[in-house]
Amino acid sequence: MRTAAVIVAAGSGIRAGSGAVPKQYQALGGVPMLARTVGRFCAADGVDAVQVVIGEGQERLWDGLGMVHSKLRGPCLGGTTRQISVERGLAALAADAPTHVLIHDAARPFVSAGLIARVIDALAKADAVVPTLPVASTLKRVRGGTVVETVPRDSLEAAETPQGFAYAAIVAAHAAAARASAAFTDDAAVAEHAGLMVQTVAGDPGNIKLTTAAEIAAADGRLAADEALRLGDVRTGFGYDVHPFGPGTAVMLGGIAIAHTQGLVGHSDADVILHALTDALLGALGDGDIGQHFPPSDARWRGAASRVFLADAAARVKARGGVIANLDVSYIGEGPRLSPHRDAMRASIAAIAGIAIDRVGVKATTNERLGFIGRGEGAAAHAVATIRLPLLPPATP
Ligand code: MG
Repeated sequence: MRTAAVIVAAGSGIRAGSGAVPKQYQALGGVPMLARTVGRFCAADGVDAVQVVIGEGQERLWDGLGMVHSKLRGPCLGGTTRQISVERGLAALAADAPTHVLIHDAARPFVSAGLIARVIDALAKADAVVPTLPVASTLKRVRGGTVVETVPRDSLEAAETPQGFAYAAIVAAHAAAARASAAFTDDAAVAEHAGLMVQTVAGDPGNIKLTTAAEIAAADGRLAADEALRLGDVRTGFGYDVHPFGPGTAVMLGGIAIAHTQGLVGHSDADVILHALTDALLGALGDGDIGQHFPPSDARWRGAASRVFLADAAARVKARGGVIANLDVSYIGEGPRLSPHRDAMRASIAAIAGIAIDRVGVKATTNERLGFIGRGEGAAAHAVATIRLPLLPPATP
């Protein structure tokens, strides 16, 4: 074992608001903050084990994250201060005997692979490493609402995490700080107190610490906006299909069998609704049509369940890095009556396409007894699909 990471997540999050959920378990862009932070370290090259320190009574919240990774150790419980929590996290790694350890705050979920690598690299030549950033604001020492002095900032830098240490050295430093009843707000200070030389590396301005409810809300909004922008290539496709009625006792529509006085006739199960939706998705992708991907001349598709076609089109959207925004279909036929089956068809289509049911519309009309549909010779479906594809191609490494 070379390098382990301790992620400190034991806070009750009082500063982030009075919500029942501690801040490290609040969602950012749909993913809990702690899951984001832990995920970054599990994914980082050069990190061999990840030890999370959770708060007492937060075991269920942690379990609720459902985090599984080969590097991830079972969580240990923290204490009443950050310093005690770190000490316990370090102790939990004793059996692994790592040579180095990174100590990181759960409240910095945007830590980059580059920063983690910078800290690990610097540990080759130093026993203590802290990422720092120049201080941009002018600093005032204030007492009782009055400025006492302006603090020169030319040699001042702000410390971030992860901070990296030789494991044995930081364990000893924490023990010394505890013996001296000395309280520190970061581990570099614990190391300084023990007389370790602390080396700096360039911090990352994107590695922000989310402390207040407003900061969490702002980060959540930024992620949502990023996602909207990322999938900003919005496309719409149209699909049409028709099948004749023939002998039978049921029709397949929207992936479910609906009792009827006739059946619909086709090479596959003749589900006009799923066929029109499939063509709408393929149209949005500019990727041919159902006949091209599933030619009627191919015996494999004889009697096929049409869910296969729609699922394939949905998979093509996913393969392009996109999402389906909505699917909408209109059935035109003199029967069967679809309104009693509308929600079952919506649920079926949503399940096949892998989207939420509120993104699926199903409507039906007769043709007022006009034309071939009006004479009951067949039924048709018109469909529209809207998809969102990445605005930019994925970055090449
Ligand atoms: Mg068809």
